[in-house]
Amino acid sequence: MLFGALEAGGTKMVLAIGNENGEILEQKSIPTETPDSTIPIIIDYFKEKDIKALGIGSFGPIDLNRNSETYGYITSTPKLSWANYDLLGTIKRALNIPVGFNTDVNGSALGEATWGSTKGLESSIYITIGTGIGVGIYQNGGLLNGMLHPEAGHILLSKHPEDDFNGVCPYHSNCFESLASGPSIEKRWGKKANLLTENVKAWEIEAYYIAQAIVAYILTISPHRIVLGGGVMHQEQLFPIIRKKVTELLNGYVNTEQLENMDNYIVPAALQDNQGIMGCIQLAILELSNQI
Ligand code: ADP
Ligand code: ZN
Repeated sequence: MLFGALEAGGTKMVLAIGNENGEILEQKSIPTETPDSTIPIIIDYFKEKDIKALGIGSFGPIDLNRNSETYGYITSTPKLSWANYDLLGTIKRALNIPVGFNTDVNGSALGEATWGSTKGLESSIYITIGTGIGVGIYQNGGLLNGMLHPEAGHILLSKHPEDDFNGVCPYHSNCFESLASGPSIEKRWGKKANLLTENVKAWEIEAYYIAQAIVAYILTISPHRIVLGGGVMHQEQLFPIIRKKVTELLNGYVNTEQLENMDNYIVPAALQDNQGIMGCIQLAILELSNQI
């Protein structure tokens, strides 16, 4: 059986066709321009395929409340042509098939929980550290969404004693995204993040922020495993520094068998950067099964 997957990002849209095993059979990417120019391409692509359902993982914020009049809308995004846009409704009306809808990072969390490094676990979180920072929370066999959806990339952190950078988030000078996203690293050091590999201080400061955030998530959500993905986490030297710092900051307060094996607790994404699109396939599968 074939399913469609749409990873709707602020800079590009990834469109794919996959099957019930999460295998991607074809995939293409188009730039995110305006709804008027981008959405018809998406609809034409999926219309020609024999898909039974579609899953969308979208940039946001988005309205995920099925009882709301604006369910499926992109709401207050700074990308103005997409603000208050009925993404789900427009696509669903054109394709006339079940369409699952969630945040892009929840999609990645679901992809990893279904086919990747958190498969089979009761709970897990997926943190993406890229252009922005987002956290997807998987718990009790589903994705956690509250009144809106978690925006745990904006939790407030303590500044590193040697960091005098003021952050990039327009809302918070010292939130996680403000201090540790790719653009934040690049603005602090005046260099592309992928060219900073040898800069030990850059990654020590980065790991300090990631570890603080992880400690907050361990203390509040208590996930069975934590996956770190996104462009910045291609700097693999971050992993051991983060694990060490998390252990230090927890200071022995939480004692579980998972935390005794940090290498197996804080892990990279396992799906070769396909976790988002594979998660969208699972969103489609779940939406179809809800409707039968
Ligand atoms: P997005 O968040 O836009 O979906 P990515 O997860 O690829 O996309 O994140 C892009 C960000 O990650 C950029 O800000 C870039 O600086 C950073 N980045 C990409 N590749 C690397 C790398 N190899 N090392 C460090 N940072 C990287
Ligand atoms: Zn913020």
